[in-house]
This record gives sequence, C-alpha cells and structure tokens, in this order.
Amino acid sequence: MTNNLLTVAYIGASALFILSLGGLSNQETARQGNIFGIIGMAIAFIATALSSQVTGYGLLATVILPGAIVGAILAARVAMTSMPELVAILHSFVGLAAVLVGFANYLSPDPELVGVEATIHEIEIFVGIFIGAITFTGSVIAFGKLRGIIGSKPLILPARHLLNIAMLVLSVWLGVKFMEGATFWENIQIPQNYVAILTQEGLQPLLIMTAIAFVLGVHLVAAIGGADMPVVISMLNSYSGWAAAAAGFMLSNDLLIITGALVGSSGAILSYIMCKAMNRSFISVILGGFGEGTGTPSSGAKPAGEATATNVEEVAELLLDAKSVIIVPGYGMAAAQAQHPVSEITKFLRERKKNVRFGIHPVAGRMPGHMNVLLAEANVPYDIVLEMEEINEDFSETDVVLVIGANDTVNPSALEDPTSQIAGMPVLEVWNAANVVVMKRSLASGYAGVDNPLFYKENTQMLFGDAKQNVAAILSKLVESAQPMITTEKVLVS
Ligand code: NDP
Repeated sequence: MTNNLLTVAYIGASALFILSLGGLSNQETARQGNIFGIIGMAIAFIATALSSQVTGYGLLATVILPGAIVGAILAARVAMTSMPELVAILHSFVGLAAVLVGFANYLSPDPELVGVEATIHEIEIFVGIFIGAITFTGSVIAFGKLRGIIGSKPLILPARHLLNIAMLVLSVWLGVKFMEGATFWENIQIPQNYVAILTQEGLQPLLIMTAIAFVLGVHLVAAIGGADMPVVISMLNSYSGWAAAAAGFMLSNDLLIITGALVGSSGAILSYIMCKAMNRSFISVILGGFGEGTGTPSSGAKPAGEATATNVEEVAELLLDAKSVIIVPGYGMAAAQAQHPVSEITKFLRERKKNVRFGIHPVAGRMPGHMNVLLAEANVPYDIVLEMEEINEDFSETDVVLVIGANDTVNPSALEDPTSQIAGMPVLEVWNAANVVVMKRSLASGYAGVDNPLFYKENTQMLFGDAKQNVAAILSKLVESAQPMITTEKVLVS
C-alpha cells in the first residue's frame, strides 16, 4: 500500500473513531457508534498490515491469529457482570504493550534518528514505558479487586503520599541518567551475552524506572477503596490511552497517536465526570487514594434497629395500590440478570397508568453506564430512565421505591455519617419515599463494605432472595391479580 493511501486510510479511521465516540455518548446512537468504531478499527488494522513497514507476515499471523481467537472466545463468553474485569485486564495489555514497544525501540534504535530527533525519541521511550508500566500493574490490581481476588478495602500505608512522591522524583532522576546514557554496574556476574545488553548505555536506569513504575501502579490503585473504584477504572482507561499514544510516538504511527489521545482524553473527561458525581477530588485520584487524612476510614457504626421482612404478595399489593413507583437498580440486578422481568413489571404498571420511572446512580453496578445498558437490552424506554440528579427530588412524592440489588448507591450513611468510607458521596435518597422495598439476599453490605442503615428504617421492607426469582414472582402475582378483571371484561363484552 502506498504512503498516500495509508494516510487516507488513517484519516478515515480517525474520523470513524471520532464519530464512534460521538455515538457512544447517547443510548439511542450507541449501537451506531459501536459500528463506526468496528469499521474504523478494521480499516486501521488492514491498512497497517498492508503498509510498507510491515514485512514479516508469518510472524504477524502467528501472534494475531491465536490472539484473535482467544479474544473472540473471551468476549463471547463474558457475562455482563464480569465486563468491568475484562475491561480492566484489557487496559493492562495496552500498558504492557507500551512497555514492550518501548524496550524493543530502545534495544534496536532507528539509525536514521540523530541529534534532536534522537533525544526526543528517547524521551518518548522513557515516558511511554513509565505510563505503560503504571497502567499495567494498576490495571492488574483493579482486575483483582473487581474479581474479588483482592479485598476492596484500601491499602493505607504510612506516609503513602510521600512514598508516591519519592517514587516519582526517583523516576525523574533516573530519566536524567537515562538521557545521559549512564550505566551503574559494569561488572555483572551473568552470562556474557546478557552483559553486553545490560551494560548498554542508559538501559539500567530504564530498567530500574520500569520496576519503580510497576510498584507505583500497584500502590496507586491498592490505596483506593471499593466505592471509589469506578473513578480508578476510568482513570486507567485514560492512562491506557496515553500509553497507546506514547507507543504511537515511538513507532511514528499517526493513527495510534490520534487513537491514544482520543482514549486518553475521553477517559480523563469520564474520570472528571465520575469524580464530580461522587463528590471526590480529581487531583487526589490522580495522586492515588482519596483519603485526605492518613487514618483508615471507618466502615461506619453498626446500624441500630431491626429490619422488617416482607413477601412477594405484599409487594405486589403495594405496587397495585401505588400511583408513582421508582425502580432503583444496582449491581444485584445485573448479577441476578433480573432486567427482563423488571422490564415486564414496568410495562404492566405503565399500562395501568402508573407513573413508573428508574433512578440510576452514576456508579451503580460495576462499570459506567452498566444499568443503562442492561435496561436498554431489556427494552425499557429511555425516557423513563433518569439520572440521579434528575430524580432525587422526586422521592418524597413517590409511593413505592423498589431497590433491586442496589446497596452503596442508596446508603444514607454517605450523607449522615462523616466517618463513613463513602461519606460525601451523593446517593439516591430513596428513604424519602412513602414505602421502600429492598430486594437482596441478606443484610450484607455492598461493594464498599459499609453497613446500610436504610435496611432498618421504618418505611423500609426487605424482600430477601435472588432478585430475578423475586421480580419474576411479583410479576406473576401482578398478572394473576389482573386475570379476574380480564375475564370479567371478556364476559361483559361477549
Ligand atoms: P453494591 O455493590 O453496593 O451492592 C449490590 C448488592 O446486590 C449486594 O449488597 C448484594 O447483597 C446484592 N446482590 C448480589 N447478588 C444478588 C442477587 N442475585 N439477587 C439479589 N441481590 C443480589 O451495588 P450498587 O450498584 O448500589 O453500588 C455499586 C458499587 O460498586 C459502588 O460501591 C461503586 O462505587 C462500586 N463500583 C462501581 C463501578 C462502576 O463503574 N459503576 C466500578 C467498580 C466498583 P446480598 O449479597 O445480600 O444479596
């Protein structure tokens, strides 16, 4: 493929990526946005593979084919609830790729680069490896936390901010040494072939910085508690974009630079929006950990009182008597896959002229937009799915709130207990409604590990059990209650 054609293909792919991002910003156009993204990526992939820079097709096929097969199988098999983990681990691959590209570039430098160009290229390599290494280990820790392999509690080391700053300063110093081409150890007791590589000018500072950046990535993400993980995920998304852009600079690939910058900046904007939604400081996230103080935040005092249990019949009655209903879904709805019967209940109640709406917390579930995706999949009309700030005032005029598998996002201690780990995070104030029904399997805490006083409030009733089974049972009670009416109507008509 000629260079001109390659440039045209890259411009076309870039335009499609921008259109894709535009489409993804709205539920109604998200599907189309996705298609633009797929076409853009296909063009980018084919054009790059056909470019004059690429020669070893045999090698390319041996890495791409198994990768494509494994990727396709994983993506096809992944449950919606595990999607955030998959995204986190994919971010880690981008980080690792940037590290590997950086080392490959350093070990076999382009002989055409001399003078200022060579200096700039070395800075690109150093910065690219630094960002890539943080992204890699940070994403692996995020994956572990989301999968539950690593506890969601924040790791609060003494003087952790100082530790981060020390690692950063050391990395900058190593950067200077790298640019000077310093070698710290000349006589290394390892096989001769490796000595030649390891004593290559500047490689030792580069390797030490990589190790430090790996540790920094682990520490930055480990310091963040469960409830604040959404911001970390979008932040890592942004880092992975910058890592890709850095790899683009190293490889002199314009499309990779553009794509990386798009991912990096959109991830940063998403992180900023998430921080605002959670009332957290954007700067503290970048610096790892939100806790302004150095002490461990408490998980709040154990709520007092007794929870009142209810049953499917009573909830169905409540719904039949209600004029206005707000449904608040959370991670439990996703885990139970209850969105389809929830959609059916909505349809049933709306047909009976009841005002049914959904209240969506920005961090409900395990990834940004998680609930919106599930509800769209179950054909819930978009116009009744409202954001937290659009609906929070309306709870006081609502007859029944159905909380389906949500916990942290409806926890009053975020507003009432300043020592709570989730203190200051805006939540859906469901307790202001006349009746609240919480559907979950037990009184256990949510992802942040904070007890929830909502369960013990006077106007709250707990419907214990799997969300899908309970929602389906409520639906059949509602349908059953409508049967005699339908039969009588039929008799009257005939
Ligand atoms: P939570 O994670 O706080 O709580 C979910 C609840 O669902 C649990 O308490 C659990 O209770 C219940 N549950 C689980 N399975 C079922 C089931 N099969 N049937 C019924 N109930 C079930 O949910 P929220 O959505 O309210 O909050 C999300 C949390 O995740 C926040 O802390 C957020 O910060 C965090 N987070 C969000 C991310 C995002 O991007 N959105 C990313 C990472 C973390 P029980 O075991 O008793 O059934």
